[in-house]
Amino acid sequence: MAVIITEECINCDACVDECPATAIVSADESPLDEPEFTYVKPEKCIECVDCSVPKCFDACPTPGAIAWDMPYTQEFDEYYLQRNDEGIYKIRVHKKKGVFSPSFQPRPFREVIDMQDRIEHKALEF
Ligand code: SF4
Ligand code: SF4
Repeated sequence: MAVIITEECINCDACVDECPATAIVSADESPLDEPEFTYVKPEKCIECVDCSVPKCFDACPTPGAIAWDMPYTQEFDEYYLQRNDEGIYKIRVHKKKGVFSPSFQPRPFREVIDMQDRIEHKALEF
C-alpha cells in the first residue's frame, strides 16, 4: 500500500527526509496538478514494514495528517488506477513499461492493519 497525506497536513515537511523509500515529496515537488500538501508516492511506499512504526508517522507533529490507503498489490490495481485517473495520485509512468501500477510493481504492506481501516482511510495510530 501506501499511506496517504490528508488535509490535516501543515506542510512542515518533517516527514520528507525520514522516508526510507524516498516516497515522500513536499508540496512544491508534488506530481499532482494542483498540489496543496506534502505527497506520498504510493508506488514507492513500503509502509515501513521493517520498522515498529512508520517513519513518516513518527516524525509528524500533526494528528490525522497521515492515513492508511489500500495495499499496493495486484488485487488493488484497478483501485489505484482509478485514483490515478481522479487525480488523487499521479503514479510514475515508465516510457516503455507504462504506469507503475500495483500489478506491475507491488509493494510490501502491513498485513496487521484492518482492511476496514484502510477503506475508511483511518489516520495512523500506534
Ligand atoms: S510509511 Fe514509510 S515508506 Fe511509506 S511514506 Fe511513510 S515513511 Fe515512507
Ligand atoms: S510531517 Fe505531517 S504535517 Fe508535516 S508534512 Fe509530513 S504529513 Fe504533513
